[in-house]
Amino acid sequence: METVLGGAMLVRSRLRRAGSALQSAAVNLVETLGVEIGVRQAGTPAAGRAAQAVADSFREAGLEPRFHEFGLLGYEADEPELEIDGEHWDAGPCMYASPTDGIAEGRVRRMGTHSIGGFFPEADVFAVEDEDGRELARLLMTPFGGPAIPFLTGPRQIAVGPAVFISGADSMRLREREGALARVRVSGRFVPGLVERNVVAELPGGSEEAIIVSAHYDSVWRGPGVVDNATGVEGVRRIAERLAPGGHKRSLIFIGFAAEEIGCIGSQAWIFDAEVTGELGRIKACVNLDCIAHGERLELMASPPALSDRLAGFAGELGLGDRYDLNVGPAGPGVDAFPFHEKGIPAATVSHFGYDEYHLPSERVELIDEQRLADSVEVATMLVESLLEEPVQPEN
Ligand SMILES: [Zn+2]
Repeated sequence: METVLGGAMLVRSRLRRAGSALQSAAVNLVETLGVEIGVRQAGTPAAGRAAQAVADSFREAGLEPRFHEFGLLGYEADEPELEIDGEHWDAGPCMYASPTDGIAEGRVRRMGTHSIGGFFPEADVFAVEDEDGRELARLLMTPFGGPAIPFLTGPRQIAVGPAVFISGADSMRLREREGALARVRVSGRFVPGLVERNVVAELPGGSEEAIIVSAHYDSVWRGPGVVDNATGVEGVRRIAERLAPGGHKRSLIFIGFAAEEIGCIGSQAWIFDAEVTGELGRIKACVNLDCIAHGERLELMASPPALSDRLAGFAGELGLGDRYDLNVGPAGPGVDAFPFHEKGIPAATVSHFGYDEYHLPSERVELIDEQRLADSVEVATMLVESLLEEPVQPEN
């Protein structure tokens, strides 16, 4: 943990001084996205400014960015209200949850647990039911068991019933309070007719075959998204700057994905359109950066095994296993690499994960560890360079 400094200018100079040789003096997207723009939920003007900043940084690296636009149903969350047996409990909004009819009042029943999959743990799901056992709302344990944060739930559909997130600690408390009286108010709104944009910059190589290097630039409700994921976008910018001189055997496509926090919508929109136009066939891998400068473990999540082996090998060469608690596993859901994996495209995510401030307003620039960021960029760059030379065979 680094010392707290006040003011963007101080932060700027500190980040620059702390920077490795990889870092440009021109721009640091951790600061631009995380501090200057701040909260940049999909569908908001701030997300548009963030897209512009990502495009500017690609241009500065000598690339020609363009916007891949797609239509979006937005969601404006209000702070939910939750009382258990007359006592106020913290609650985070659930994106795309339908509103309650005023305040829903009923009894709590534990339904069981659910996991998103991958490295997401099992999390409790409680129903709030009326006297006839009809469900009025759901209380969902926050993923990873931390504080009550804004998140998503449910099967893959646009909207779910009224729901809020509660902390891991409160979820444990609630297990002991079966039948407690809950009062819940959910009052978010659906906003049709929005447009979002992925920022795409291609560096042509010796072949049409291409490697994608990506990070999402949007953030969650009230979250400045400094770690998640201004750090990943800054990582992509550094890799772009480094590889921009070109001369590569294959092409590179750098993408700042929009709308990841509402269900990897941006990456799925890009993949859909690329499949329609036939472009997807030339994509040989996706290397994705998400939360790379803070957090307990270095998570290397890649599929097929040939890709995770290669990534783990580079991490070993760099001695990252000595420096961090290293976890190597298959591609998992909840990140933009996963929809590529689902299409059978080799996909990897580099992430430092597990931290208390995840998805909260307290995700501040003071948390950023330049060493973690630089190490993530280094291992990702090694993987990208090796894939440009020789992709791994996809799983069938
Ligand atoms: Zn993220």
